[in-house]
Amino acid sequence: MFHQYPITECFFCGKPALGKEYGKIVEKINAETSTKIRAALCISCSQKKEFKFTMADLCEVSDVPFEELKNYACIANPLRAFPENIPDSQIKEIVIGISDRYQCQICLDFIELRKRVEDHHTESHPEIPMFRCNSGCNLCYCLSSRKSHKAHCGIVCPVCKQKFAVDTGHFLRVDPCVKCPVSGCTTAFQIKKNELGEDENGINEFLMHIMTTHVWEILKFAETG
Ligand SMILES: [Zn+2]
Ligand SMILES: [Zn+2]
Ligand SMILES: [Zn+2]
Ligand SMILES: [Zn+2]
Ligand SMILES: [Zn+2]
Repeated sequence: MFHQYPITECFFCGKPALGKEYGKIVEKINAETSTKIRAALCISCSQKKEFKFTMADLCEVSDVPFEELKNYACIANPLRAFPENIPDSQIKEIVIGISDRYQCQICLDFIELRKRVEDHHTESHPEIPMFRCNSGCNLCYCLSSRKSHKAHCGIVCPVCKQKFAVDTGHFLRVDPCVKCPVSGCTTAFQIKKNELGEDENGINEFLMHIMTTHVWEILKFAETG
């Protein structure tokens, strides 16, 4: 079953988003519970350029160069992208879905995925002393909660299943992993090298994770039931 946001208002702007003519249904996976979530999106938000998450955005967020993207199964999948005979410039413009947002831990506002948490802080509440956590969550908190936050923040290692703060070096030296760079997300993927020194599927899982948990897929009305 789906955990649902109110399906009558737009998840992004709060305006009514009812039915086929005024709204769309979007769906993504909740990274913490691995269950699907649905929300409504109004037509005007669905058309906003800044909400659209493209192939070029995927390269930027994941730090995987565009030339390498098509080597990964989740991208080479014919349903996803890279139709033949289309120039790279057009492939970069392919819209994967609607960009997710993350929550500021100081004012609880939602911040657009590509916006840096520090920039939001400078614009919205520069007077509050804050720190940016480098243990794994990548979020900003009030300076006064530094100790209590750092005591429990970390990422569960996909290899040994124990929790480590990123700044301990565990994911570099002990069990090599790539950490999801999205603020608020504490997911990591194991980098498994084959005999040629190439990563076998950690990056593929990582790209798939970004596309399914940080990007809302716009459903066709027939699929929404
Ligand atoms: Zn809207
Ligand atoms: Zn804030
Ligand atoms: Zn943290
Ligand atoms: Zn480990
Ligand atoms: Zn993530």
